[in-house]
Amino acid sequence: MKSKTLLAIARAARLKGYAPYSHFLVGAALLTEEGSVITGSNIENASLGLTVCAERLACWTAVHYGYRRFSKIAVIADCTPPPVPCGACRQVIWETAGNVEVIMGNLAGETTVMSLLDLLPEPFGGSAWADNPVAGNREEEEEDLWRLPVSFTPIGYVVNNFQNPKDIPDNYRELISQVIIDPELEEGLYRVDEEEKITVIAYLHLSRGFTLKDRRRGRGNKNYGIFACHSPHRPNAIAQSTGEIVAVDRNRLIVRGLDLINGTPVLDLKTVIN
Ligand code: ZN
Repeated sequence: MKSKTLLAIARAARLKGYAPYSHFLVGAALLTEEGSVITGSNIENASLGLTVCAERLACWTAVHYGYRRFSKIAVIADCTPPPVPCGACRQVIWETAGNVEVIMGNLAGETTVMSLLDLLPEPFGGSAWADNPVAGNREEEEEDLWRLPVSFTPIGYVVNNFQNPKDIPDNYRELISQVIIDPELEEGLYRVDEEEKITVIAYLHLSRGFTLKDRRRGRGNKNYGIFACHSPHRPNAIAQSTGEIVAVDRNRLIVRGLDLINGTPVLDLKTVIN
């Protein structure tokens, strides 16, 4: 993944921050060697001392989700020059990720790139404890591992005139939407135009909460189990919407017949293979 993309993800994560005291929002995005991105934003506390920075939140979240190998971290804030990680974050990035590339950016588009050891030349490490017999000797309970949350990075988003679910008209099957794909993934659309239909797997970002039974479209609008109908109020707010491929223009896919609103994050695309 390009540093520019990682910085763009950090910029989006910044908006998830909680900074009612300083009003200084910071976003961070940590790239794993597998290509996953774990984000963080600064979370303040009225005690001030309990505030945590975006970089540390990203590091701790990544470790919690089982990631251990990283290649770079991006940090962004609205300041000139671009922000540098504080001392505490440098120490935590060192322990979590080692000597990774640190990409620092601001909203004006300026960036600075340094290695972690440039920022923290004499890092404190845990090598003195390497012989501790407890380390690396834990028995793990693995049968519940499937319960761990899964995280995805959207590949793109939907553009159309439907601003909220109520705006989707009954004749949506005739209407055009665009699916804009991250330019880095454009090659994945190679020969898509040879197919007729495509299924868009999307995240219903406005959906809140879920129910286990809901009304099913058709069949007299009766109640069905949530897994027997297409209600948006599901345990995982994932939708699939199939449309007709009209055209492909670089990273822009024109599709007729999607029932997804403007701005819906897209997780995957699959052509319909008969
Ligand atoms: Zn910090």
